[in-house]
Amino acid sequence: MEKLKVGVIGATGMVGQNYIRLLNNHPWFEVVYVAASARSAGKTFKEAVAGRWLMEDTLPVQLENIIVEDATNVAAAKKHCDFVFSAVEIDKQAVKELEDAYASNGIPVVSNNSAHRHTSDVPMLIAEINDHHLEIIPSQQKRFNNDKGFVVVKPNCSLQSYMTPVYALIKAGYPIQDMIVTTMQAVSGAGYPGVSSLDMVDNVVPYIGGEEEKSEIEPLKILGDIRNGEFESYKGINISAHCNRVGVIDGHMACVSLKFSERKPEIEEIKEIWNDFTAIPQELDLPLAPKQPVIYMEETDRPQPRKDRNLDKAMAVTVGRLRECNVFDYRFVGLSHNTVRGAAGGGILNAELLKARGFLNRQV
Ligand code: NAP
Repeated sequence: MEKLKVGVIGATGMVGQNYIRLLNNHPWFEVVYVAASARSAGKTFKEAVAGRWLMEDTLPVQLENIIVEDATNVAAAKKHCDFVFSAVEIDKQAVKELEDAYASNGIPVVSNNSAHRHTSDVPMLIAEINDHHLEIIPSQQKRFNNDKGFVVVKPNCSLQSYMTPVYALIKAGYPIQDMIVTTMQAVSGAGYPGVSSLDMVDNVVPYIGGEEEKSEIEPLKILGDIRNGEFESYKGINISAHCNRVGVIDGHMACVSLKFSERKPEIEEIKEIWNDFTAIPQELDLPLAPKQPVIYMEETDRPQPRKDRNLDKAMAVTVGRLRECNVFDYRFVGLSHNTVRGAAGGGILNAELLKARGFLNRQV
């Protein structure tokens, strides 16, 4: 099979570098184009990331001398790319305009940015949960006035550590009424150089701008439905979130307390629901899909970021410490790798699903 030609917009950043690393030798996609800010444009990729390549794997040799383009040069991307991944750190309005410019020029955008998460015809996709939201793409394409370009986004990275386990319970017939979630989020979630070391070492920062609002609102779109060509939010669940930055390099963890709206399952049944849960990415055997998307760990002190974040290509969500709650019904701990499952890996899985569903095709 001939691979699709891919651009990474924001390739020099934390998420962009993870895209470059994870797409090296990908069976369906080949990186042929990289773009970033005007500061990096015109340099070779090797020069642009000199002194700030943060991956353990070395820079793929075939990309060392590729010239970094300016992210705003949509015409250049159009010549080279069948679609692009987008992970840029600029203000929201500028991201919207940039992603719209790609889509209206017929280039599909698989985005990690938050700008379009609440646009009424843009799917916010966790491939195991809401693949049916892709049905809205044709009506988005009408807005962009072409039948090729569109934008699909990923939700906030910290949601990944608990939304799939929560969805698995709802899908099994146990709707949830109230949820309190307290996250402990890795420093890599703030990009590079991120939070200063003097703020992070020997410390916890109990505030991440905008993160609590995202944790409380984004799940409602993900769990929602499409009505009359627009997303309708799920109304069944109240969420209260506390988001903290902790001195962990990779791996967002969440302590979650749940109250079910109707009947409540037994503890052993919940573990079985989680361990048995599979969805469309597993049925389609997508290349980056974890074999088991939710892994329950019986050890009393797991999951832990350093020990468990890399399970199943760093794409699995690990859960543990499921126990009764004195206030709600149950509590548990969830963990996922924020720059893989929560960012580049999740974006690649979304693109694999889009390709399997016929939304990504050869154009160049
Ligand atoms: P980052 O490490 O700060 O990288 C930012 C990227 O954006 C770089 O490639 C940078 O290029 C580029 N950029 C900056 N200003 C630009 C401009 N004016 N025009 C075009 N490109 C510009 O940030 P990151 O952590 O990778 O995050 C990127 C996006 O992904 C953000 O929207 C973030 O919220 C989201 N995200 C991050 C994570 C995570 O775990 N880190 C998870 C999920 C989502 P230069 O190198 O040329 O400056």
